[in-house]
Amino acid sequence: MDHFLYRDGALYAEDVSISEIADSVGTPFYVYSTATLLRHFRLFDDALEGMDHLVCYAMKAASNQAILKTLGDAGAGMDVVSQGEYLRAKAAGIPGNRIVFSGIGKTAEEIRTALTGGIRQFNVESEPEMAVLNAVALELGVIAPITIRVNPDVDARTHAKIATGKSENKFGIPISRARAVYAHAATLKGLKVIGIDVHIGSQLTDLTPFEQAYTKVAELTETLRNDGHEITRLDLGGGLGIPYVHSNQAPPLPADYGAVIKRTVGHLGCEVEIEPGRLIAGNAGLLITKVIYVKSGEDREFMILDAAMNDLIRPAMYDAHHDIIPVIEPAAAILPRTYDIVGPVCETGDTFARERAMPPVAADDLIAFRGAGAYGAVMASEYNSRPLIPEVLVNEDQFAVIRRRPTYEEMINRDTMPAWL
Ligand SMILES: *Cc1c(COP(=O)(O)O)cnc(C)c1O
Repeated sequence: MDHFLYRDGALYAEDVSISEIADSVGTPFYVYSTATLLRHFRLFDDALEGMDHLVCYAMKAASNQAILKTLGDAGAGMDVVSQGEYLRAKAAGIPGNRIVFSGIGKTAEEIRTALTGGIRQFNVESEPEMAVLNAVALELGVIAPITIRVNPDVDARTHAKIATGKSENKFGIPISRARAVYAHAATLKGLKVIGIDVHIGSQLTDLTPFEQAYTKVAELTETLRNDGHEITRLDLGGGLGIPYVHSNQAPPLPADYGAVIKRTVGHLGCEVEIEPGRLIAGNAGLLITKVIYVKSGEDREFMILDAAMNDLIRPAMYDAHHDIIPVIEPAAAILPRTYDIVGPVCETGDTFARERAMPPVAADDLIAFRGAGAYGAVMASEYNSRPLIPEVLVNEDQFAVIRRRPTYEEMINRDTMPAWL
């Protein structure tokens, strides 16, 4: 469910007309709904009620500080995967003891920043990383709390580029080696082993892989406890999928996901963390764009938009589907036409949808991409020297630009000429 609905024939974000925002900030832009962000966060929070838990929003999905503060004020922690994300979370007011640090390539500098600024735990992904973390902690005279990310070798049954829990993926340590790695970690004086971490992929639309992975984590918890380790915290990752196609059967709900967690690890008495990103932000955001031209090809019509693959790369990168709707509600009886929906970038990959049935559109019409809140703005680039597009946050009847569109001058002046030119 989201808060983007037609009202009197026009699309609204909560109580704000999308056309009004477009008049004010120009197109293209991203718009997010506070109510949807909070609703999704609370679904997860409620799903784990009765367990000691923290929902750590995976901020790589959408990392604007206004989004982080909205969720942080509601009680969310953050899952960060880089120094930039760590510093951004801190800048948004998230306390260090609610930030977990994931990622397979943490550098000594990143580790130092987090240990100095305060951190809930590091999710360690390899033995070389463990050695560096230990060394930095000893150098700073602190003890780093860690979980170790295990790779449970389960098939997440999702797009290959976002599956992370099979043995051939680069993430975590093989679960079969866990006992040895934990034994080694226990000898390192700069570390305190507190738990286990797992994350098997993104956009999962079936609970079975979660159930398989969490069952393995539960077994590992018992084994490690028998080996003498104090396992008090389980970080169960993110990955629950969202319905990108409106009419399709919906993926499992957070409540069902919570039931799997309780069933598989609930008896262990551990504090549980989860790291949802996509499900919190995905359907809380739209990409709003304008039709530049409608062009007739030999056997098809092209809808050419002012948004492009540099603004939203998911269709080009993951063959992702986004529902695409007009901002002015079409009359019920109108006959759809079929369009190839494309951006202006000089690549055939800059195609958002092929042979998509849409109500007829004309130049200057506003178009909305649904489900664009996660892995949208954060993956944008300035390819073709197109400035990063603005982000807008709506809260009931108010809206605010939370990242403005840079001027061409600002974008161009970031280059510096060497002395010899
Ligand atoms: C990407 C990622 C997440 C979030 O995944 P979603 O599918 O957006 O919920 C959580 N944890 C880790 C370690 C990740 O890499």
